[in-house]
Amino acid sequence: MAVSIKTEREIGYMRESNHRLEKVFDALEKIIRPGITTREIDREARRLIQEQGGVPNFVKEGFPGAVCTSVNEEVVHGIPGDRALQEGDIISLDCGLILNGYHSDAARTYAVGEISEEKRKLMQVTKESFFEGIRYARAGHHLHEISNAIGDYCESRGYGVVRDLVGHGIGRELHEDPQVPNFRQKSRGLRLAAGMTLAIEPMITQGTWEVDWLDDGWTVVTKDRKPAAHYENTILITDGEPEILSRTHE
Ligand code: MG
Ligand code: MG
Repeated sequence: MAVSIKTEREIGYMRESNHRLEKVFDALEKIIRPGITTREIDREARRLIQEQGGVPNFVKEGFPGAVCTSVNEEVVHGIPGDRALQEGDIISLDCGLILNGYHSDAARTYAVGEISEEKRKLMQVTKESFFEGIRYARAGHHLHEISNAIGDYCESRGYGVVRDLVGHGIGRELHEDPQVPNFRQKSRGLRLAAGMTLAIEPMITQGTWEVDWLDDGWTVVTKDRKPAAHYENTILITDGEPEILSRTHE
């Protein structure tokens, strides 16, 4: 599949879809606390997405929830259920919606009450690596400059970079070409052009980058069961600075 260049009209739809997702995240952040179950978070995500006039895109992809709730050693695709959050946990929420046929996609890792300095640092480096990567997300640069920047930033600080899962193009489909790895690549990759929309999503671990896929068919956990963090935004490539379409007020 060729990498799509969005028209002004499509960019407008992408902005709106992601803007509404931003509102969903703003509200979800407020309910994260010890005692809440991941199912309750999912229920609230569904309600909020509906309130925004959107459709939860993960449900359409076959995932058993409107939001992925990945706790501690769970990297991504944690299934909402009976698990109650505990003080000291970190939880990654990965969520997206469809509005007017266009997808939005973002992820954040949140602290549950007071967390260890180790976990706080992991969350911080994960988020910083996203911003390090998108310094190269502009027309004329090559895709893998983003991958290299993210990977080098994390690995030079002693963190693991998940290789089994990557970022992606996004638009009328949740996952479009190209794939956007978060670790150093041998080739330069695609030449970026204005109008491309990408979901950039470093998944960073405290220990090994290797992961296991659980028997539930979805949940991805670190092989050493050390914690992982996830930070994702949908961005628009322009001739200058990229526009972060899904950025919440942080
Ligand atoms: Mg996502
Ligand atoms: Mg994504």
